Formats: sequence, structure tokens, C-alpha cells
Amino acid sequence: MHDRYSRQQLFHPIGQLGQQQLKHKHVLIVGAGALGSASAEALVRAGIGKVTLVDRDYVEWSNLQRQQLYTEQDALQKIPKVIAAKQRLQQINTEVTIDVHILDAHTELFTALLDDVDLIIDATDNFDIRFFLNDLAQKYRIPWVYGSCVGSYGATYTIVPGVTPCLHCLLSVVPNTGATCDTVGIISPTVQIVAAYQVAEVLKVLVGDIAALRKSYLTFDVWRNQHYEINVDSIRSDSCPSCGTNPSYPYLAYENQTKLDILCGRDAVQIRPPQPVHYDLQQLANQFRPYGEIQQNPYLLSCQTEDYRFVLFQDGRVVIHGVQDVQQAKSIYYRLLG
Ligand SMILES: [Zn+2]
Repeated sequence: MHDRYSRQQLFHPIGQLGQQQLKHKHVLIVGAGALGSASAEALVRAGIGKVTLVDRDYVEWSNLQRQQLYTEQDALQKIPKVIAAKQRLQQINTEVTIDVHILDAHTELFTALLDDVDLIIDATDNFDIRFFLNDLAQKYRIPWVYGSCVGSYGATYTIVPGVTPCLHCLLSVVPNTGATCDTVGIISPTVQIVAAYQVAEVLKVLVGDIAALRKSYLTFDVWRNQHYEINVDSIRSDSCPSCGTNPSYPYLAYENQTKLDILCGRDAVQIRPPQPVHYDLQQLANQFRPYGEIQQNPYLLSCQTEDYRFVLFQDGRVVIHGVQDVQQAKSIYYRLLG
């Protein structure tokens, strides 16, 4: 047991003191997909005191190729990712406190999770949430590490409020091509490289070695053998609405707006009630049975009809697969839930 962290402690920039510091740190990982699985496992093995994981999805077969914490059983039973992740992570290290939430990050409930968080890892898959995280991180002065990957291309950048330019400052540098893993695919090495860079930065922040942080915006293509680092030192702007001298945090207002998202590339629409609703899933399972085949676990209820699949989470969120039209999704939602 006592040997667990010996190799990490031998690493001089961490040492015994750094290991003690890690034990008292709390990292929030937003997203428990491929990047979130990889960084959560690395941090839990490294002996971080507490890891909080937030994700809104459940495990699907197409996740197993790269989302390292999950198994076929998780996919068969449609287990929410954070529940499956917690089980696996706790097997790896019982000393780490693991707190999980089945939650869409765009909610007030999410903001409440920021209490005593030392650092946020971006393991999400879209820029709406990243800019939301960016504003939260600036407002609450929490360092965060951006990461994204698609195909064989990855990017990462470390943001320390008051020290580095923020993601908003970098708008002109960050390409948002709209390509997603659902449309152009992804190979697992891309994930592992981004997560490895992210976790290295996280360890530096947590042991207080700010001077060692990589200051550039890093991108690579592991298939085309390309690697770029963009120097962004001069990009920080005093007029930035997120990190400037008079911030308005424009993306935080967004949290009250989005109630209906088209889940891009997945042929699905998510509907989120403005306030969390707690449904009796058992009772609803009985109600939905005439519509189609029901699958259920303690966290969600899935109903497969001839035309679409309707997945209801305990917090009242619904994902309707097999539709792309928001109006159609709404009418199904109101038809089934009133
Ligand atoms: Zn900024």
C-alpha cells in the first residue's frame, strides 16, 4: 500500500510534498466520454484527493472503442457513464473520493458543484459548454484545461485566470469546424495524447509549479505527423468580456436559455426542463409500455418505438433518438410527458 505513489514521488518536481498536496486537491472533470475516462483514470491513479465527474449520457456500444472505463455490460444495461466510471475508478483506488453527477453542464445545479474545486478539466465535446466553462472559470478564478479531439487531430490549452489569455481571447485561434466524432470518427491514440497533455498540466497546477505550465496553444495530427504550438502570450485583451478588466461573462446567461439541443451528428434531440423534475420511472415505464419496448435501470428509462427511441433521465431530461426536427421532438415529448 505504501509503495503506491513511490514512483511519482521519486519524480523530483512532485516529490513527497507534491504528493501530499495532490491528496488535498479536488478536480472537476466535465464529460465522462473518452477524454474524461482517460483523465479520470490517470488522476485517480495519481492519488488526487477528490474527483468529481459530470456527464449527461449513458454508455453505448460505439463508446467502447475508446472510452477506457466502460465494458460491454455497461453498454448492454445503458448504465449512465458516471455511474459506471465511479465503479471502475473506485476499484482502481479506494483512497480517492469520487463524486458523480448525471447532469447537463448547462444548469444552475452544475454551478453549485464548483465549491472547493481546485481545477476543471474540459472533457466535453462542444464549444457551447467550453465557453460556458470558460466564463465560470474566470468568474470563480478556477484554472481549467481545455482539450478537444476528433479524427487524428487534437488540441489542448491551459487557462489560469489572471495569468493566461482565456478561451474567449483565443477565439480567432481556436478552429471550430463543426466536425465531431460522430461525423468524422476518432481513433483512440488521439484521445490518449490530448488527455496525457491535460493531465500533465493538471499535475503542474496542483503542485503549484505554475512556471512549468505550457504557455502555448498546442495542436497535433497524429496520423499526418504534425505538431504545432501557437504562442498566445500577446493575445490577452483587456476588453475581453470574459477575462478583461470589466467582464460581463456573456456565456453564463446561456445557462438559462438552452432547453432544447439538437445533438449534432447523433440524429437526436435533447429536451431539458427549465427546472429539474423528478419522475417516478417505474410508473412511467408502465405508461409507456403500449408505445414500444421498455428498458429500465435506476437512472433512466428507455422506450424504443417503431420510429424513435425515447430516453428519460431521472432529472427530467429527455433524449429522443431518430429525430432531427425540434418540433417533432417537442411533440413527442409533450405527447409522452404532458
Ligand atoms: Zn479572455
